Amino acid sequence: MNVSVVLYSSDLRVHDHPPLRAALEATREVVPLFVRDPAVDRTGFAAPNRLAFLADCLTDLDAALRDRGGRLVVRHGDTVAETAALAREVEADEVHMAAGYSAFAQAREERLRRALEADGRRLYVHEGVITAVPAGEVTPQGSDHFAVFTPYHRRWADTPLRSPAGAPRTVRVPAGPRSEPVPSRAEVEGVSEGLAAGGESEARKRLTAWLSRHADSYTEGHDDLGGDVTSRLSPHLHFGSLSANEAVHRARSRGGEGAEGFVRQLCWRDFNHQLLSARPHTSWQDYRPRQDQWRTGKQADADLLAWQEGRTGYPAVDAAMRQLGHEGWMHNRGRLLTASFLTKTLYLDWRIGARHFLDLLVDGDLANNQLNWQWVAGTGTDTRPNRVLNPVLQGKKYDPDGRYVRRWVPELAEVPARAVHEPWKLTGPERAACPYPEPIVSLADGLARFRHARGRD
Ligand code: FAD
Repeated sequence: MNVSVVLYSSDLRVHDHPPLRAALEATREVVPLFVRDPAVDRTGFAAPNRLAFLADCLTDLDAALRDRGGRLVVRHGDTVAETAALAREVEADEVHMAAGYSAFAQAREERLRRALEADGRRLYVHEGVITAVPAGEVTPQGSDHFAVFTPYHRRWADTPLRSPAGAPRTVRVPAGPRSEPVPSRAEVEGVSEGLAAGGESEARKRLTAWLSRHADSYTEGHDDLGGDVTSRLSPHLHFGSLSANEAVHRARSRGGEGAEGFVRQLCWRDFNHQLLSARPHTSWQDYRPRQDQWRTGKQADADLLAWQEGRTGYPAVDAAMRQLGHEGWMHNRGRLLTASFLTKTLYLDWRIGARHFLDLLVDGDLANNQLNWQWVAGTGTDTRPNRVLNPVLQGKKYDPDGRYVRRWVPELAEVPARAVHEPWKLTGPERAACPYPEPIVSLADGLARFRHARGRD
């Protein structure tokens, strides 16, 4: 056999890439393909921050392939039609791709398999490319997925992982197939000002630097909003410019409690993927319905807008929402407390919050975003579904000196530490000098409303 096609999607790298490896072993030449599919745009997934990051990843992937004698072929259109047409054009007998986990990815995979088989070609779908442990590989007795994290984690931690593969030395691409220009970040409008750079080279540098500088302080530091010592690898894991499998291996060989804590977070990522894969409808439907009658109407809309714009009057919530707008990324503790505030204190539907996050997050991911939102809203896998995070106490605990709040809420930059999470306690000239809104709801009222709604009063 002479030629195969490697269809890229959320696995934009050359290191530790089983589909590329398999294609190179099977055939003399390989066509690495990425299809810009308008159907993905129609799912609402083509948000500017992710398009910009994607452009960086594709540029970097093309450069990595060129360094190895190849190049990336970019096409625009329906992924199945474009891939089948290219396979025909180069007379490829086989196509290799990574297994995807959303309903959209699973349906696309099936369509592609049928289209290729109708042409006498084969599709090879490789597991363990997007996650460290393939979704569905560890299951409890009598079910197709784990619904509770701790037993999943126990089994996951004992599952042997494949050794990460290096990048191939040479990638030979046939001369013929045309490519559209690789998209560039500069073409994307509406990108957050502080958006991070994408691409495999950046991801690899970040992993190495983070493991040597911050891994050891991860246990104490991962919740410290102002300290900002988490890895910020989530967009790279989302686009696959970093292999989750390799990240687990690298962290384990670094060793220590902090690195192990980081690996545990990667297990959360796999946990959400195995759940989404087994129950694709949970991307927009409650995993465990609680008979919620979420608030709607004028006041609910006004509250939503205040939350989106970071002017709820609760400094930790507002700081986190403004970080999201500015960077297209938010600290995990910020995600937890803003999501709790929206779904529990304001009692607004988690889907609205998840949609807003997906519009902005550079790591916006169907498995991690939707299932974390469900976890916080109490419709997902949290074993304490009615817990409510108090944004003032959270702020005092995880941003004790107010560094995070001051960074993102300039109105509070000069406020003394004792009042930075409770500016309404300021009086006289201090209050007058602080142009920050009053809280849009009292925490006691919000709590009472939520408890009543969940039949807990
Ligand atoms: P680190 O602390 O360095 O963790 C390492 C990696 O582990 C992360 O990059 C991520 O891939 C994974 N991880 C960490 N925490 C979680 C978690 N709770 N669930 C699943 N994976 C985790 N993560 C996304 O990747 N995409 C999302 O769209 C997303 N939406 C979220 C929405 C809400 C409401 C909440 C509460 C969490 C969400 N998360 C999401 C999970 C988590 O907040 C981010 O993965 C994390 O903040 C990314 O920062 P980091 O890379 O510095 O994480």
